Amino acid sequence: MPASDTPAAGDFIADAVRSDNAAGTYAGRVQTRFPPEPNGYLHIGHAKAITADFGIAEQFGGVCNVRLDDTNPDTEETEYVESIIEDIRWLGYEPHQVLYASDYFEALYQWAEALIEAGSAYVDEQDGDTISAQRGGFGQPGVESPWRDRPPAESLDLFRRMRRGEFPDGAKTLRAKIDMQADNMQLRDPVMYRIRHSLHHRTGDQWCVYPTYDWAHGQSDALEAVTHSMCTLEFVTHRPLYDWYLEQLDLPHEKPRQLEFARLELTHVVTSKRRLMGLVEQGLVTGWDDPRMPTLRGLRRRGYPAAAIRAFCHHIGVNKTNSRHSIEELESFVRAELNRVAQRRMAVLRPLKLVIDNWPSTPEGGPAVEWFEIANNPENPADGVRRAPFCGQLWIEAEDFAETPPPKFFRLSPGREVRLRGAYLVTATDLVKDAAGQVVEVHATYDPATRGGDAPDGRKVKSTMHWVSAEHAIPLEVALYDRLFTAAVPGERTGEPLDDLNPASVERLTGCQGEPALAEVEPGQVVQFERLGYFAADDERPGWFHRTVGLRDEWAAQRKRQAG
Ligand code: ATP
Ligand code: MG
Repeated sequence: MPASDTPAAGDFIADAVRSDNAAGTYAGRVQTRFPPEPNGYLHIGHAKAITADFGIAEQFGGVCNVRLDDTNPDTEETEYVESIIEDIRWLGYEPHQVLYASDYFEALYQWAEALIEAGSAYVDEQDGDTISAQRGGFGQPGVESPWRDRPPAESLDLFRRMRRGEFPDGAKTLRAKIDMQADNMQLRDPVMYRIRHSLHHRTGDQWCVYPTYDWAHGQSDALEAVTHSMCTLEFVTHRPLYDWYLEQLDLPHEKPRQLEFARLELTHVVTSKRRLMGLVEQGLVTGWDDPRMPTLRGLRRRGYPAAAIRAFCHHIGVNKTNSRHSIEELESFVRAELNRVAQRRMAVLRPLKLVIDNWPSTPEGGPAVEWFEIANNPENPADGVRRAPFCGQLWIEAEDFAETPPPKFFRLSPGREVRLRGAYLVTATDLVKDAAGQVVEVHATYDPATRGGDAPDGRKVKSTMHWVSAEHAIPLEVALYDRLFTAAVPGERTGEPLDDLNPASVERLTGCQGEPALAEVEPGQVVQFERLGYFAADDERPGWFHRTVGLRDEWAAQRKRQAG
C-alpha cells in the first residue's frame, strides 16, 4: 500500500471505527472490502471508494479485501474482473485477498433454506411486475402475496426444485417474509433469489438461481469477517434490511456494520458504468480506455498519475452529502503531481520555420550545431539535464509570430527581439509568404553575445519562446482534449446526458515537431511540453502524445472568482 501518501480517510467513518474499538466490538479488529460488480471498468467514483476502503483498513492496522460482487451472470465477464484488479493495483493498492461472492453461492443457498425453515422466507409464484406493483409506496399499503403464508415445507420443496432447474426464468422467486406494511420499502418482503438460466463467468451452469444484491452482500461480508462495510448513500435505506438478514442467521463472526458515504460525481463527465458502457457501445469514444473517459484506464492513458488521483480522493474525503466536484479541482492535483515529477521537453505543435540568417556555417559549409544543456525539471534538480541541439533553422509555434502584432502581443514580430528559451536572443527581420498570403517562414538574426538567453548589457525582452531544431526534430502526433460533455452536469437540461456530448472533444494534430530527447520517452510517460501543458506518450504508438492537462490552474482561478 502507498502508506506514505495515505493520511486519515473519512472522518465520520474513522470515528465510527474508533467508537467500535473503544466499545471492544470486533475485538479491535478492522476489516473492510471493496466490492465491485464485474460489469464494467472502474471509474473515478470507484477511486473514492477504494481510497476509503483501503484507507480505513490501513489507518487502523486492518486489512482490505477486494470482493467481486458477481451475482448477476447476465452482465458480468472475466474481462472486467481482470481489469478491475489491475486498475486497483495501478491506483496503488494491494488487496489482502481477492474474493468472489460466487464462492458463497452454496453457503447463501443453505442460509436461505434455514430462513425458509424458520418461516422467514417463502417461494412466491407471481411475476416481477405483480410483485413490484404490490410493494406499494411510502404511505401506500403493500399487498401481501397469496403465497406468503404457504407452509415452509412447500416453499422448501419448491426452492430445491428451483435450484434443480425445474422452472423457467421468472417463474418463481424466493422472498423474505418481513413486513408488507413497513415504512421502509426495502423491508416489504424483498426478493432473495431469482431464476436465471444463464452462464456465469465463474460457476458456469452450476446454478440457475441467483441471489439478489441485498441477500448476497451482508451475508458475504459476514462470511468473510468484514467489520466495517462501506458503501454509497443510496444504500442507507437498505441498511435495515442488511441488519435484518444478519440478525436471522447464525453468523460465524460478529455482525458487520454498514456505513454509507456520498458518491463522487464530477462536472463534465458521467460516472455510471451503464452510461460509460453506452459511450463505448455507441462508438462515441474509442473504448473504455479512451483518454476522455473518467475510467481509471482512460485517466491513466491520459497521463493522470495514480498519486494525483489518490491525493484528490484524500482531499475530498468521505462525507455524507452528495455533491459534484469540479473537474478542474481534480486537474489541479494532476498538475501539482506532474509539476513535481514530469520532465520538461520542447515541442512545437503548429510549426513555423524560423531561419537565422547570421548563423555560422562549419568550415565544410554545412550549418553549425550548438548543443545546449537544459534542466529536465527545474522543480527537481536531481533529474539532471538533457542536451538540445540548436542551429540556423528552427521550428517555432506559429501563434508565437504576428506580422502585425495586436495590443499586448509580446512575442515575435518584425523588428522585435525575443528569447529562445535557454539559447539566444533573436530579432525578426523578414518573412516569406506563400501564394495564399500565409506566412511560411520568418527570418531573424541572433545575438551571439546572448548565449544562454541573457544579454550582457542587461537589455530585457518581454517574451521567452520554445523552439526545436528543424534539422534534428522528430515528428510527433498530438491529441488535444476538451471536456467530454459541454454541460457541467451532463443531462441536467433534458435528462439525457448524450444531449450534452461535446462534438469536438478531441483535436488531433499531425506534423508536430519535438526535440530529439523526446525519442527516448517511455510508453505511458508524461512530460511537460514547455508552455503547452503535460503530455502522455501513448502506450502503443511511439511518437503519439495525449495532452493530459494544460498548465493553467483553472481551479485556482475559479476559487479566486468565487472569493472575489
Ligand atoms: P455504477 O453505477 O457506476 O455501476 P455501482 O455502484 O453499481 O456503480 P459497483 O461496482 O457496484 O458500482 O461499486 C463498487 C463500490 O464502489 C461500491 O461500494 C459503490 O458504492 C462504490 N462506488 C461506485 N460508484 C461510486 C461513486 N461514484 N463514488 C463513490 N463510490 C462509488
Ligand atoms: Mg452496483
